[in-house]
Amino acid sequence: MPYLNQPVTPAVEIAGRREKFAVRRVYCVGWNYAEHIREMGQEPEREPPVFFMKPPDALVPNGGLIRYPPATKDLHYEIELVVAIGSPGRDITASTAKEVIYGYAVGLDMTRRDLQAHAKRHGQPWALAKGFDQSAPISAVHPVGEIGHPSSGNIWLEVNGEKRQNGDLSQMIWSVPEIIQYLSGYFKLYPGDLIFTGTPAGVSAVVQGDHLQGGIEMIDTLEVTLS
Ligand code: MN
Repeated sequence: MPYLNQPVTPAVEIAGRREKFAVRRVYCVGWNYAEHIREMGQEPEREPPVFFMKPPDALVPNGGLIRYPPATKDLHYEIELVVAIGSPGRDITASTAKEVIYGYAVGLDMTRRDLQAHAKRHGQPWALAKGFDQSAPISAVHPVGEIGHPSSGNIWLEVNGEKRQNGDLSQMIWSVPEIIQYLSGYFKLYPGDLIFTGTPAGVSAVVQGDHLQGGIEMIDTLEVTLS
């Protein structure tokens, strides 16, 4: 059989523009809000941030339907601020990190919590818990020129109209510039990279038919339905 697939570059809408943000990599930070760390049964300590990745084709545009994934009975939502990188750089300092940011979006880090708990207990990686198909719904990217660099503002999520997560960006343990400083010490960052920056408290399970709507003040709202 010939190999017919053409390579596809995942892309995210850019608010108010016709061109799209072509995505290279999707990095994620775990445990970045103290109350969320506590609800996961840990004590928050200021250790270096935890990073993991999702495949770029796990992104789902705003308003989309996502299928309840196989192999889990405990699918959780995590509403997060997403940073979109617009310039390359390695070993970036926190004081210059804003120079490489193109914009910001609202994302959902969907998580198979039962598989993540199993992985944690056994010292295994989080790929099956975090990197599954359709695990990364995302809003349009909003360029810095229009919204600036939000370091505070309400971040919230409702399931079927009921508020479940209700935090503030100012509660992040690692700020966006600090995250970029750490991450760029491990990977050279390039235009098209996205960074999910962690979720506030209030995560819990969702089921087929649930409607998730979340947002971040001054950025955007994001909604998906589980089918
Ligand atoms: Mn997360």
